[in-house]
Amino acid sequence: MKIEILEKNDTNLRIIVKEADVPLMNALRRIALAEVPCMAIEEVVMIENSSILQDEIIAHRLGLTPLKTDLDAYSLPEECKCQSEFGCSECRVTLTLDSEAKEGTRSVYSGELVSDNPEIIPVSDRIPIIKLAKNQKLKLEAYARLGRGKVHAKWQPVSMCAYKYYPKISTPTEKCEECTKCADICPKKVYEIKDEKVDVRDLLACNLCMDCVEACPKKPSPLNVEWEKNAFIMNIESTGALPPERVLKEATKILGKELNLLEELLKAEPQ
Ligand SMILES: [Zn+2]
Repeated sequence: MKIEILEKNDTNLRIIVKEADVPLMNALRRIALAEVPCMAIEEVVMIENSSILQDEIIAHRLGLTPLKTDLDAYSLPEECKCQSEFGCSECRVTLTLDSEAKEGTRSVYSGELVSDNPEIIPVSDRIPIIKLAKNQKLKLEAYARLGRGKVHAKWQPVSMCAYKYYPKISTPTEKCEECTKCADICPKKVYEIKDEKVDVRDLLACNLCMDCVEACPKKPSPLNVEWEKNAFIMNIESTGALPPERVLKEATKILGKELNLLEELLKAEPQ
């Protein structure tokens, strides 16, 4: 398998994967969405809430606030050695909020949450939690735990994880004087017209919609749009909980673990 990085930053990873197949790509995609753990607030103890929002709505909003995750320092509650309902310092992080609108109406943002571990904090401190009117108060204690996206979407470390086939386009070698319809209709602006010849400007932008082939007045069209059978473009957009490359690494680890388990179970079958 060969991997080429097209784009990489704190929240986005775009790669070309060659010599892979659909089942593998789809397994990685599904594991990244549903199995790679990340931190999210799971329980909230309301100490004081004089705002107009019910406790449950505030707890739900807090749960959906993405938190930076440290997978090496924390374990999943079901795998933690404490096996306690309340959790321990290895499977739980406490965040507190104590906000009051003393001067007048104001918004409370995620940045006001105080964590007992400065590494586990909201990915952005500008996520609005609630608006308080004058003299309203919100005081609470929230407990964050690791979890998996298949249980609740708040534990999904990616906001998007998708792949598409690697496009393969061959343009006519002769001059094409009839029209520029293929270049005009393409929603991704893949083509350009150079000296009355159709040329590919941005191959990777192609999403194989085939509009260009259909728009061509020549039948059959001299344009040939196909895809490589074993090459893909994968795009992972992280919520900020984990770096996108870490999500992919964890996904491959989990896939390996599941395959090992399958192998062991097969061995355990009586002859
Ligand atoms: Zn524990």
